[in-house]
Amino acid sequence: MNSKTQTITLIGAGLNGPLLAIGLLQRGFQVEIYERRPDMRRVRMSAGRSINLALSTRGIHALSQIGLWDQMQKIIIPMKGRMMHSVASELTFQPYGKNDTEVINSISRAELNMALMDAAEARGARIMFQQRCTGVDLRTGALRFRDEQTGENQTRRTTVVIGCDGSASAIRSEMLKLNRFNFSQQYLDYGYKELTIPATGGKHAIETHALHIWPRGNYMLIALPNIDGTFACILFLPFEGHDSFAQLNTGLEVVTFFKERFPDAERVFAHLATKSATTVHGG
Ligand SMILES: Cc1cc2nc3c(=O)[nH]c(=O)nc-3n(C[C@H](O)[C@H](O)[C@H](O)COP(=O)(O)OP(=O)(O)OC[C@H]3O[C@@H](n4cnc5c(N)ncnc54)[C@H](O)[C@@H]3O)c2cc1C
Repeated sequence: MNSKTQTITLIGAGLNGPLLAIGLLQRGFQVEIYERRPDMRRVRMSAGRSINLALSTRGIHALSQIGLWDQMQKIIIPMKGRMMHSVASELTFQPYGKNDTEVINSISRAELNMALMDAAEARGARIMFQQRCTGVDLRTGALRFRDEQTGENQTRRTTVVIGCDGSASAIRSEMLKLNRFNFSQQYLDYGYKELTIPATGGKHAIETHALHIWPRGNYMLIALPNIDGTFACILFLPFEGHDSFAQLNTGLEVVTFFKERFPDAERVFAHLATKSATTVHGG
């Protein structure tokens, strides 16, 4: 391939798409990215984008390779260990490393994604938003798209396509139609729900430099610190059965569940009664 003239087409501007784009641009390729969602830098984030990531050696290495790690320092919070919360509200701190320099880092997925998109565009990538890839002809490289705003369908010729379109990849679906293509997929019996622990006077309500975990056997609550003093929490629960999302149908049921299972967390959740404000996601 002649890197000077070759355009590489990426599907998906999540975490991997812009990261890969920067790597390809560094090697002299031209890159275009098609993303089905609107530009999250211009429209309000949808559910699922507020989840924090625990960024460790692998992620730091990737960001260092594209020269973005230093810039990330202002939006990460080092977490020195796990803070385990028992049902009796006892705290146990489990350090991640031998000393305070061995940490994992809490980072907002949305902030990271936006920084990656900014960096990819600054280096010359073109990102086309609200372009849903609906299929590809793997023999000719013809990609099919639907404009999510107008509903218009289009076909575009490409030479090299890389699917960065996540767990329900349209590109992978197309590859499944090939002969002898091996594939397996399993669905979890668990879903998750995003919650926020508000800041108290602009500060974190619980220990800042820890990944908080309320382990409860087959389910758990976790909380990762944000730079604005809030915590991004995820409640992982089975969809069905005892202690499941199926049993939490009213605000009162949710509050009672938290009071019994996560009593110290319940005390800092000011917004628990507004259960309908959040969304349950598939596992
Ligand atoms: C609850 C939860 C917690 C997690 N926590 C961590 C963590 O702490 N640390 C960690 O390292 N990882 C974590 N992960 C995993 C991490 O989110 C994934 O590894 C990562 O998002 C994968 O990046 P990606 O770019 O491949 O896919 P995604 O981030 O899913 O991006 C795919 C992109 O493709 C777009 N797209 C999809 N279909 C199409 C289409 N047909 N046409 C055009 N665009 C399309 C999507 O809109 C999206 O923008 C977590 C995941 C979940 C669900």
